[in-house]
Amino acid sequence: MFELSSKVDTLAMIGPVYRKLLEKLGINTIGDLLYHVPFRYENYSLVSKINQLQPGETVSVHGRITDFKNIYTRTGKKLQKAKLSDETGEISLIWFNQTFLSSILIPGTELTVAGEVKFYERRLAFIVPQYEIYTNNSLHIHTAGLIPVYPETKGLTSKWLRAKIAVILKRLNPEIREFLPPTLLEAYNLPVLKEALGNIHFPKDYKQAESARRRMAFEELLIIQLAAAFRKKALDRQSNAKMITVDEKSLAAFIKSLPFQLTRAQERALSEILGDIKRDKPMLRLLSGDVGSGKTIVAVLAVFATCLAGYKSILLAPTEILASQHYRTISKLLDPWGIKIAYITSREKTARPEDYPVTVGTHALLYNYSPGNDLGLLIIDEQHRFGVEQRAVLSLKNKQPHVLSMTATPIPRTIGMTLFADLDLSLIDEMPRNRLAVKTYIVKTEKREAAYGWIKEKILKSRHNSPEQVFIICPFIEASETLATVKSANEEYDRLGKDVLPGLNLGLLHGRLKPAEKSAVLAKFQNKEIDILVATPIVEVGIDFPSATVILIEAADRFGLAQLHQLRGRVGRGNLQSYCLLFTESREAKVLDRLNTLTRFRQGHELAEYDLKMRGPGEFFGTRQHGGLGLKFADFSDLSLIKKTRSEAVKLLKQDPELKSSSLLRDKVLAYTIIKDTID
Ligand code: ADP
Ligand code: MG
Repeated sequence: MFELSSKVDTLAMIGPVYRKLLEKLGINTIGDLLYHVPFRYENYSLVSKINQLQPGETVSVHGRITDFKNIYTRTGKKLQKAKLSDETGEISLIWFNQTFLSSILIPGTELTVAGEVKFYERRLAFIVPQYEIYTNNSLHIHTAGLIPVYPETKGLTSKWLRAKIAVILKRLNPEIREFLPPTLLEAYNLPVLKEALGNIHFPKDYKQAESARRRMAFEELLIIQLAAAFRKKALDRQSNAKMITVDEKSLAAFIKSLPFQLTRAQERALSEILGDIKRDKPMLRLLSGDVGSGKTIVAVLAVFATCLAGYKSILLAPTEILASQHYRTISKLLDPWGIKIAYITSREKTARPEDYPVTVGTHALLYNYSPGNDLGLLIIDEQHRFGVEQRAVLSLKNKQPHVLSMTATPIPRTIGMTLFADLDLSLIDEMPRNRLAVKTYIVKTEKREAAYGWIKEKILKSRHNSPEQVFIICPFIEASETLATVKSANEEYDRLGKDVLPGLNLGLLHGRLKPAEKSAVLAKFQNKEIDILVATPIVEVGIDFPSATVILIEAADRFGLAQLHQLRGRVGRGNLQSYCLLFTESREAKVLDRLNTLTRFRQGHELAEYDLKMRGPGEFFGTRQHGGLGLKFADFSDLSLIKKTRSEAVKLLKQDPELKSSSLLRDKVLAYTIIKDTID
């Protein structure tokens, strides 16, 4: 027998290889797998007879294989061509390089296929369709309905996840126990957990999916609020943080040496932080400010103060690229003061980092570096990107550092205070004075060449005085950076260099480059030896090149608004007019409208609010996993749900401060609480 907390490999159908792959997605237990929810659904609900098929429509068709051929083309490619028939007609199914299909799609096999009806050799066909062999006892989960599409990783497809999740849901169903009080479910008209999990993966229609999502969002927000209340109680009891006495004179000298003046908002945030770290209670503060508002320097000033007081600091970044940039920026800033920085990622490590006053790195540093008791300050940049790894921060908790989290997720103060009752919030609500709004344009296919011409001219002209640089962001093909995304970046880099923008210096950046290659490319971009950096969306987070003035985003419609805003934030970081070009082939009014909001709104929180209002059910997970504060189901801008869960959390704790009477709920809350053992 297995249960939600069992490791995934207790299931006979999941071996060590898949266990490892699942781990990459943060999935360790069977429960994690069930909570790995689709970020969208493929709508294959329309089931059609073959003679009714229209080109361009997305449908499912049920029939029998009547022919299968492996074909070798003259160019040496392998092509699979099958015929599918029902009582009304026949249609071709085409695949490439999947010779193994010959042993599966044997003539006579009953099959459902799903996909877009296209033309192949001037006749209607399905090209690389989803397919599902029909037997009386199979689950039928890949076609003929709303089909879940999951965040994937290389070697682990949505099809695989779907199949496993379907089996687990079926077998485990009686074990999925409700832990929310029945009165709440009733009052808010929420489905029970069992039903919600079933429907979020395999909904009958969008309405069912939305109702399931609401239940999961309610659960998530309630747990966050209860956990925050627990943590606050625990924190109030602690009094052994390092008291960091700020050397005001040196700090003032450092600030004076900066090439710019701090904004008032930065000064305010800094003084709030300095006020906290002076005390013997650990700081737990969230520094929130829109992309480009200048959070890093505030963090560096706090590091500087900590360092002068004789304590150590750690700065965590979510990606290697960002970590390496922080490493360089901070080294440059602190070097004149004789402060040296250690650097740790999963692939590079400064020797004896324990000897350095400051360590910068990715979460890898949590596992291969153990700071001493003199750890004074822990800074987590882009904290919403950490998700699961954030738990690893646990390993540092016994050192009781002051903790500063930074995020560009726009959270209005009221929401922050409600949702994270235990966090103090500093807002940088003002941009540095020199900034101009980034001009944003939607570029349709017919304007593509003109846009390249404009970019080229812009770069060539700027060379005479102050060189300007360009990012070209390749389509976001899957939820995580997979080979497909990297391949498209590679191809785009070749194409642009050869045919489109010859004579300019191009660089290529993606997550699969070796660290040394990555740093080399970034260093060249920094030194302006590269005019145009072709990159996967990996540059999305945090990086800072003030002379980059144009960002061109391919297939912009595939990104969520929050993510596009993050990407746009890569330009407009200096005093030059910057531009964001959103390329799209879409002609759908809905898609263009959505992109248009970027041309209308400049600030992250305006976009977030609009996004929430407009987001259709079909893509309701579209942006959430990128823009939220590690929220999986809920949306921080759903103020009304936040308020409701807040008042319910307060009520629950008033009746039962330790949640003794709902032990299942209590367990969930404790699992969410980063300092859980201190409250027992
Ligand atoms: P984010 O808040 O997105 O992390 P950064 O901290 O990377 O933004 O800052 C963006 C850019 O703005 C950096 O190049 C930084 O040096 C610069 N910057 C920060 N503060 C100011 C300021 N007060 N005036 C002018 N430029 C600033
Ligand atoms: Mg930043």
